[in-house]
Amino acid sequence: MKIINPKLIISAVAPKQYPDGQLPEVAFVGRSNVGKSTLINTLLQRNGLARTSSQPGKTQTLNFYNLDEKLYFVDVPGYGYAKVSKAQREQFGQMVEAYLSSRKQLRGVVSLMDARMEPTEDDKLMYNWLAYYQVPILVVATKADKVARGKHNAVESRIKKSLNFQPQFSSLALFSAVEKFGSQEIWDWIQKQSGV
Ligand code: GDP
Repeated sequence: MKIINPKLIISAVAPKQYPDGQLPEVAFVGRSNVGKSTLINTLLQRNGLARTSSQPGKTQTLNFYNLDEKLYFVDVPGYGYAKVSKAQREQFGQMVEAYLSSRKQLRGVVSLMDARMEPTEDDKLMYNWLAYYQVPILVVATKADKVARGKHNAVESRIKKSLNFQPQFSSLALFSAVEKFGSQEIWDWIQKQSGV
C-alpha cells in the first residue's frame, strides 16, 4: 500500500491524548534496537519519520502516525530498555498494557524479533500476553538479511517453537530493510486486519 502523507499526530504520554475517531490502529512493539523505526520507515517509504525512541533520557511516548486518514500506525517504545528508572518503566508499562488490552480501535500488533536470535524472555512475555488478550499478532523476524536464505525456514520454525506459536490468530513474516523483502507480506497482513 502506498501512503502519500504520513503524519505524526501525537506523542502521547496519557490516554486522554490518544486520537479521537474510529480509524483502525496497528501497533508496533519490540525490544530496543530490534529495527522497529527502520521497519516503520520502510513501510511508509519515509526515511527518518519514525525515530529510535529508546535514547537515554528521552520521554517514552506512544507515537500515533496518521496515514492518509485511513489508519494509524502506533509506535510503542522498545521494551527491555534498562536506562529508565523502575518507577518510570512500571508507569509506562501500565499505559502500554492498558492500550494494548483495551483500545477499541486496535486491530492488530506487529511484534518484532531479531531473526538471528532466540526470542528473548520479553519477546515471549509480549507474545503470550497479546495472545491471552486475543489480539491478532504478526511476528516479524527483522534483519533477516543476516541469515542465509537457506536457513529462513529454520528461523521460522525456531521462533514458532520458542513462542509456542498459535496460528489461529498469529502469523509470521521475515523482513529485511537492507535486502528489501517482507514489506508486501506485512502490508497485506495490516490491510487484512484493518480493512483498509
Ligand atoms: P529500533 O530501536 O527498534 O527503532 O531500531 P532501529 O530501526 O533504529 O535499528 C537498529 C539498528 O539495526 C540500526 O543500526 C539499523 O540500521 C539496523 N537495522 C534495522 N533493520 C535492519 C535490517 O533489516 N537489516 C540489517 N542488517 N540491519 C537493520
